[in-house]
Amino acid sequence: MALDIAFDNSYARLPDRFFVRQKPVPVAEPGLIAVNDALARRLGLDPAALAAPEGVAMLSGNAVPEGAAPLAQAYAGHQFGGWVPQLGDGRAILMGEVVAPDGARFDIQLKGAGQTPFSRRGDGRAWIGPVIREYIVSEAMAALGVPTTRALAAVTTGEPVWRESALPGAVLARVAASHVRVGTFQFFAARQDAEALKLLTEHVINRHYPDADGPLALLDAVVAAQARLLARWMSLGFIHGVMNTDNMAISGETIDYGPCAFMDAYHPAKVFSSIDQFGRYAYANQPRIAVWNLAQFASCLLPLMGDEEPAIEAATASINRFPDIYQPEWLRLFRAKIGLATEAEGDDTLIEDLLTLMAEGQADFTRTFRGLADGGARAEFADPTGFDAWAARWTDRVAREDDPKDRMCRANPFVIPRNHQVEAAIQAAVKGDYEPFSRLNDVLSTPFGENPGAAEYALAPTPDEEVRRTFC
Ligand code: AMP
Ligand code: MG
Ligand code: MG
Repeated sequence: MALDIAFDNSYARLPDRFFVRQKPVPVAEPGLIAVNDALARRLGLDPAALAAPEGVAMLSGNAVPEGAAPLAQAYAGHQFGGWVPQLGDGRAILMGEVVAPDGARFDIQLKGAGQTPFSRRGDGRAWIGPVIREYIVSEAMAALGVPTTRALAAVTTGEPVWRESALPGAVLARVAASHVRVGTFQFFAARQDAEALKLLTEHVINRHYPDADGPLALLDAVVAAQARLLARWMSLGFIHGVMNTDNMAISGETIDYGPCAFMDAYHPAKVFSSIDQFGRYAYANQPRIAVWNLAQFASCLLPLMGDEEPAIEAATASINRFPDIYQPEWLRLFRAKIGLATEAEGDDTLIEDLLTLMAEGQADFTRTFRGLADGGARAEFADPTGFDAWAARWTDRVAREDDPKDRMCRANPFVIPRNHQVEAAIQAAVKGDYEPFSRLNDVLSTPFGENPGAAEYALAPTPDEEVRRTFC
């Protein structure tokens, strides 16, 4: 099978002011890092054709395949709370939408594909570090069952990218239900372009929420999707790092993996991103920030809702339902993490008390929860006194459950993409060795299984291995 992609580019059919048509800027010498075979097949693409020279030419941006309609999307956004009226794809190009054999529609976007009119002072490129990080972490999220964009392939460009020094350039082929963001709505709302807002609303309803019968129902659906997403992040110790409104997808997928991280030692105030100076996007702030972003989204929709007092009230009520969805979902997920399927008074306190002890004892998030299933949790605490008292209460509670051990092993991953492992994969890839990258992806593809080959990946970092800062 040759590289035959069933493109159908609905976004490219929107009016011109939604985007700028832009081909990727060709690169010197494309080289394949990886093709995601399973994802390629899911999209109806032939992985072998993607890995062949014709495929690599497409993945690097050197060739535009038949049926593609490459473009850079326009958007705006709040970055760390500050309004930026003009952002847009500055280092990413949407090649088009592929319709999978089952009818599902996906964007294929090349990240690092060169400058666009939205690049401002940026070079439009990515170095291999962020490409490797996004590939590993987004695929791990998918394997963990979290809604997310996916990594279809990664290629090198044969060109240096200048950051603090010259680094190997790379391009990530990313797949998403769509790349429409809160910031896409903000772009048009700020320009008081009601017609564009209406078209964009129809576009995302068709693509993501076909049951929604208008802007308010869309808002309700996005609030619900984000509330569920945030509960998932929290249940895994995931920190997005840059929850700007341009990095929140309307589809409810995790998008824009920059300086993201999974926590090792638990603390609610954990921050990894080197650019998050004040901890705006710290672990425990994430649900609040999601609400803040959704309020920006709601205000964009108001002009379509009449802009009158009743519309404002309805939108406010919709945003206020976030905790009504988030809290029970959080509790359901954390109940499962400690082995509970039934509900009892005091379960929330039991969970909160464990988290408090973990924060005080700097216990490893993933290992502590997983360790509840096999008795290993106690060893995560330097002084286990508090944990022992908690474990006595928990043992009483969990005694009323059927098969709690199995439930815990399905709720608590054995392996997550730990920062030091991701960093090691990046360091090797810089030197042209993709073996650690490929092994890590392999292990993370079955994160709940305790296969012996994965044991070293389940270890917390030693103090000198620990990565405390992540970069875009
Ligand atoms: P991000 O931090 O990835 O959410 O990006 C924020 C904005 O900066 C978006 O408009 C990006 O397209 C743009 N941007 C980030 N890095 C680059 C780069 N190297 N070249 C051009 N634009 C960039
Ligand atoms: Mg972004
Ligand atoms: Mg980004």
